[in-house]
Amino acid sequence: MKVCKELLYRDVMNYTPIDVIKGMDMITKKIVMADDPAPAGYKIKPKCKFCKNFLVDDKNASLGICKASKNNFMAYPDMIATTCKDYEGTDL
Ligand code: SF4
Repeated sequence: MKVCKELLYRDVMNYTPIDVIKGMDMITKKIVMADDPAPAGYKIKPKCKFCKNFLVDDKNASLGICKASKNNFMAYPDMIATTCKDYEGTDL
């Protein structure tokens, strides 16, 4: 099976978490680790870290800023963005 090196299971729509460590691959119905690479072709989950408006904090990689907001509010890389009207996904 070809594996996409850039996406982890926790970053794809075809993954449903059971807890913070593991979840289910919704295609194969197998239990997988959240941080394992996802197979190629799995659909990316919209998150701030995949958005063109997200700017990583130079001093703390686990934080960032949303450039689409008027006040440049703080954003988290793994924040789910499925309901964000300003989400601009990047192509991986
Ligand atoms: S526009 Fe939405 S998805 Fe993009 S960085 Fe801001 S809050 Fe996150």
